[in-house]
Amino acid sequence: MKTVKLANGIHMPVLGLGVFKVEEGAELVSAIKEATRLGYRSIDTAAIYGNETSVGQGIRESGIPREDLFITSKVWNADLGYEATLAAFDESLRKMELDYLDLYLIHWPVEGKYTDAWRALEKLHQDGRIRAIGVSNFQIHHLETLKKTAIIMPVINQIELHPQLTQKDLIAYCTKNNIHVEAWSPLMQGGLFNNPTLQEIAAHHGKSVAQVILRWDLQNDIIVIPKSTKPHRIAENMAIFDFELSDEECAQIDALNQNLRVGPDPDNIDF
Ligand code: NAD
Repeated sequence: MKTVKLANGIHMPVLGLGVFKVEEGAELVSAIKEATRLGYRSIDTAAIYGNETSVGQGIRESGIPREDLFITSKVWNADLGYEATLAAFDESLRKMELDYLDLYLIHWPVEGKYTDAWRALEKLHQDGRIRAIGVSNFQIHHLETLKKTAIIMPVINQIELHPQLTQKDLIAYCTKNNIHVEAWSPLMQGGLFNNPTLQEIAAHHGKSVAQVILRWDLQNDIIVIPKSTKPHRIAENMAIFDFELSDEECAQIDALNQNLRVGPDPDNIDF
């Protein structure tokens, strides 16, 4: 699996398996086993997904050595705060039966709460319990606020990003500040498969629309974590390293932007 070097020197796979909306249980365990059998090494979960126990089981049953995997989880809004975040981290590790995480993210930038939570992530990182720390759904102004008190800056910002929400300004800011961008809902939760531009590009390469979108991300140095529990889709989403989009095709995809979100606006969260 191809990796990128994050700002703190550690390597992260450019493609991982997202597990949002997959419940605890056999389906998730077998999706992780199938993905790792195919070559996936990165799994993206979160405390709020309520499936960390099965993620841990999938990891153990995969038989892949722990050090070869890259496991991400996220602290939920209700647990933002120095002590609360330390406790939430312990709970995530307990559920997954792991003794460290590769990446831990602040899930949403809840005003007035994320700077204290960040101090907890810094402490966990300094204690060697998380290899890399980052944020999710942070806009430029949240990152600027964090910068005022942070000792370590995030190495990842995981944001909603797909051809109808290309986030160019935020990506430019993150790139300038050595923060790698990771796309959530890269497939817009299935909302792009009938797009004629994407269908045409896909047909030209003999690939699927999903593969074209994920390839567009990779060529823009964006890390992707598409979600599926179906073996054929897990395989399809990995077959993106054997073709290349032209600059013109990338520009055509960029032009699909409509600043359209499928998830909440980080500046207007009420949960
Ligand atoms: P996604 O864009 O990955 O789309 C998933 C949907 O597309 C599913 O219905 C799946 O069955 C379908 N799909 C996947 N591959 C396909 C293929 N090749 N062909 C046809 N259909 C296919 O949406 P997502 O799950 O919202 O996002 C991916 C991951 O990002 C999540 O699982 C989660 O790990 C993460 N995420 C993070 C946040 C956050 O706030 N940080 C929010 C949402 C999601």
